Amino acid sequence: MASIFSKIVAGEIPCYKVAETDDCLAFLDINPVVKGHVLCIPKKEVDYIFDLDDELFIKLHLFSRQVARGLKKVCPCIKVATAVVGIDVPHTHIHLMPLNKPSDLNFTHHVEVTPEEQKALAAQIAAAIEL
Ligand code: AMP
Repeated sequence: MASIFSKIVAGEIPCYKVAETDDCLAFLDINPVVKGHVLCIPKKEVDYIFDLDDELFIKLHLFSRQVARGLKKVCPCIKVATAVVGIDVPHTHIHLMPLNKPSDLNFTHHVEVTPEEQKALAAQIAAAIEL
């Protein structure tokens, strides 16, 4: 069965997209740990990041760097943190999280966001990303 992220790639379910290339897609996390929590995925469904072939592994990281640079312009932070977890969704994804204190990386904490806020934030981040 296709992963939920493959369904997003196929356009079968919506997302708040911030960037896209032929191989990768970035969108806002639906249940953000911090404001501006973004997921970067390869469009190809591979569960475990270290099973990606070299080319796609590099492309995903270069893509994530460009997304993080745009994200940092929009969401004030000391640094954009990256994390790879993959416990819930078996489709490789890099979490990008604007970080102002170590506890911002607490995956058991979430911020409240409305669809309107997510939509507006995604548009702002998208406009700040140079691919
Ligand atoms: P993990 O697999 O443990 O790295 O966590 C999966 C992440 O995907 C969580 O942060 C979820 O909030 C996020 N997520 C799950 N479904 C969606 C979705 N449809 N759109 C955006 N983010 C999602």
